[in-house]
Parts: sequence; C-alpha cells; structure tokens
Amino acid sequence: MELHQLTDNVYYFQTSVNIGYVQFTEKTGMLIDAGLEDQTMKKVLKKLDEKGLPLTHLFITHAHADHYGGAAYLQKNRQVYTIAPGFESAILQEPMLEPLYLFHGTNPIPEWRNKFLEGKPIHVDLELKGEGVVERGEIQFRTIALPGHSYHQFGVMTNDILFAADAYFGKDIIHKHGIPYIVDAHLTLETLEKIKKLPCKGAVPGHGSYETDFLETIEENIKVHHQIEAMLFTLITGESAGVPFEQLVTKACTQKGITIRNVTSFMLFRTAVTAYLTKLMKEQKVSFQIRDNQLVVESSFE
Ligand SMILES: [Zn+2]
Repeated sequence: MELHQLTDNVYYFQTSVNIGYVQFTEKTGMLIDAGLEDQTMKKVLKKLDEKGLPLTHLFITHAHADHYGGAAYLQKNRQVYTIAPGFESAILQEPMLEPLYLFHGTNPIPEWRNKFLEGKPIHVDLELKGEGVVERGEIQFRTIALPGHSYHQFGVMTNDILFAADAYFGKDIIHKHGIPYIVDAHLTLETLEKIKKLPCKGAVPGHGSYETDFLETIEENIKVHHQIEAMLFTLITGESAGVPFEQLVTKACTQKGITIRNVTSFMLFRTAVTAYLTKLMKEQKVSFQIRDNQLVVESSFE
C-alpha cells in the first residue's frame, strides 16, 4: 500500500481499492473510504500515525464492501465522525441489504454473505441528502453526486482534486472487468459527462491511478459502456423470438471473454446486464416479456 501525496494536504493510499485522505487543519483529517477489511485499515492507521497525520472524519462514497469493509475496525479503534450519502447509509447500517438485493430479496444463505458483498455494520453520523458543500467546524469539502455505479454514490472534491469513487475505472481495470458493475447505464453515462466538466486538476478513481489528464480515461469508460450496450442490443435483435434473460447474461459474458467463477459473481453480472437493459427499455428499444413461463428480452423493432 503506497501513500501518494497529491497536494500540500491531499493524499491517497493506492491499493486494489484506493483510499483518499485530506488534512483540513493541524488536528483534523478525513479518510475517503475505508478499504475491504480490518487489515487494510490497520495499515492505513499505521501510516497516518507514522506521518503524524490527524484522523477525525470518515467519508464513505458508496455502500460496497470493498469501500467500507475496513470502517467498523476504524470506528472501534478511533473516534471518527462518519459521513455518507443517505441511501448508501441505509446499507452501511444494515449491510445484509446487499446480498439480499442481489439475490432478489431471498434471505441469503451464509455463502452468499461473504466479505465482498457484506461488510460489518457501521454507524453514520451525518447522512447527506443532496450534493454540495459540507461544512462542519474546521472541515469543508464539496460532494458531487455520481450515481450509476451505485444508487446514491457521492464523490468528494477538495483542493481541486476529485475523488471519483467508482464513477469510472482505470483503463486496464475496466477492460479487465469486461462488464463493469453498474446499476443504471443511463445515469452512469450522465455521471461520466458530468465529471468531464468538473473544474478539477486531477482525479482519483476507486480502482486505478490518480491522473491529472483523466479525460482520456473517462472517454475510454464511455466507449466501453456504449460497446456493451450495443453488444447486448445486437444479441437481442439477432433472435426474432427474443433471448431468455439468463441466457443473455451468459452470452454477453462469454462474448466479453468473462469466465464466471461463482454464484455471487453471476448475480453481479446479472445486475450489470439488467442495468444496460433498463436504459434500452427506457429508449423503447427492447422489452421484457414472459414466454412459456420464461423471462425473455425482446427487440421492440420488427
Ligand atoms: Zn463500488
């Protein structure tokens, strides 16, 4: 885990999931996200202590376990005032909601409740409704609503640096994922267009590296989303009787060279594929139909 310094008072810990850090004053500082588990947080705290950097606040961008799994350990060991977007806060306080929604509301069996889907619950002191400036005593920063990858994801902007959470991925990473996890393709693309216009001098994605010239990476993300959408549309229009939904998930993953290795991973791809389909549905290009007791995706064109 490497600690990179971006400005006088802005840093990030580069790991498989990046963790941001902002020092506001001599005595106040905030982490942006908390990593996957206790072990990650232990390393972060050790490094902050070594450097004499204060830690008084925690901001969680969205309720995915790889971003908040280390937060329970932090809250147990340090006094941190925790801030998160409202809807995400509901999941941070009741993390079983994630395996529950991925498995269609079925009470999840233990193997579906693994550390990648469900972190330990944390408390949230301040639940944010809309984006904007957060000001509390000595701390001040701006939140940017970045929905699409998760329902109520917020990024943080401070000292002209954007912590973009999972609104976009580093180039290698988005290609490695094949089909990135999103919950809404329309919002994902809107969010990417929004980031392009933000007045910042550099950005840190949740997965990838800090870049000053990040527009190219954003364009690559946009291209990938459009390609997946087009691929799904072609798969659907190629079958006059439509494609059974689960078969479409399989076909899309196979075409992208993905090997699904476990049940929870299938559910994540299933959600992402659905998120592209709902965009196509809103544009009245495809629809869900029931045929012979099967959920089928059909083209809306003759
Ligand atoms: Zn995420």
